Amino acid sequence: MLLKRKKCPNCGAYYDPTLEKCPACHKHNELYLNREINDKIAFMHPFAQIGLFLGGFALAGMLIIEIIFALFLKNAIADKTALDATLISCTYITMIGGLGFIVFLTRRKHFLSKYTRKIDYIYGLAYMITLILVSSLVGAFTSLFHEAANNANQSTAVAFSKNYPLLAFFVIGILGPICEELTYRVGLYSFLRRINKYLAFAVTVIVFAFIHFDFDATDMVNELWAIPSYIVAGAVLTLAYEHRGPACSMTAHVCYNIFAFLTILAS
Ligand SMILES: [Zn+2]
Repeated sequence: MLLKRKKCPNCGAYYDPTLEKCPACHKHNELYLNREINDKIAFMHPFAQIGLFLGGFALAGMLIIEIIFALFLKNAIADKTALDATLISCTYITMIGGLGFIVFLTRRKHFLSKYTRKIDYIYGLAYMITLILVSSLVGAFTSLFHEAANNANQSTAVAFSKNYPLLAFFVIGILGPICEELTYRVGLYSFLRRINKYLAFAVTVIVFAFIHFDFDATDMVNELWAIPSYIVAGAVLTLAYEHRGPACSMTAHVCYNIFAFLTILAS
């Protein structure tokens, strides 16, 4: 249980046990040296971790509500794709601003230090290839039982990419995955990881799958069949984060989304 503040044996100050040194006297934290804490992932203040999750989750929730609301207005609004593209872009720009502000306010040096090792990006590419392979396998397997069709989330992404490719590249390819990694891995997973590794993994994977689920879709069966591939994708990204930290999981997620974007354009 790493939620409790650690008492420094040297000066008696209380501090977050995920820190490498006591912030008061700079004596090394023996928990940190014993590697009981994975310093690649548990580097933000617990309040910042909750803040990243709640901030990102609330904005993603608002986006889903707005898109559902837009469906009811579809007769009044001529171009649904233009509306979706605007809503998605505005949401992710607000999200990166808000999440970036939380990082800027708390331990930004710790945060930035996680992006300096080249090896993490190379592992990120390996996880991205794994992601492509396992999601193709899951897709092939589910298509044995259910004729493959895009779920609501994918249909929106396809229309957005085909009509506004440059904007979609930045928003769906880069901004979206970075926001999702900050919300679900740096935020939710890292916070729950302080309590229990397996709980953190299970909750993160399930929450990640269901934010890609459209509860108002006309074809609910189709939405449900898309869930296994999101669970597998969430599991691979969470493993990437646990293994090498945020540079790795962000590389995997960004590259995977760009790959998916290029596949849409080519089709
Ligand atoms: Zn101290």
